Amino acid sequence: MQDVLGIVNSRGIVVINIPVNSLGKYAFSIVDEYCDNCGDCLRINCPAIQLNRKPVIDAKACIGCGICQLVCSRGAIIRIKVS
Ligand code: SF4
Ligand code: SF4
Repeated sequence: MQDVLGIVNSRGIVVINIPVNSLGKYAFSIVDEYCDNCGDCLRINCPAIQLNRKPVIDAKACIGCGICQLVCSRGAIIRIKVS
């Protein structure tokens, strides 16, 4: 079974399929030096992404859907395995 989500960033529409059984296996993190603070990841309104000086991801609140990584055109969001 898959969820299908459509999301919008500042440059257009991104539609992705997220396998439900992959959720919770990974968390995502923002590499500060690659982030230019464009704000695209904040526009998806994920509760795990908070604005400090720049956006940061609370790994404990991240379900690993990967949407934020898709909207970040700077390659600043990376996937990390949850232990
Ligand atoms: S979308 Fe990427 S570059 Fe833009 S603020 Fe978020 S992490 Fe930083
Ligand atoms: S992977 Fe999904 S849940 Fe985790 S921070 Fe990104 S958008 Fe939020």
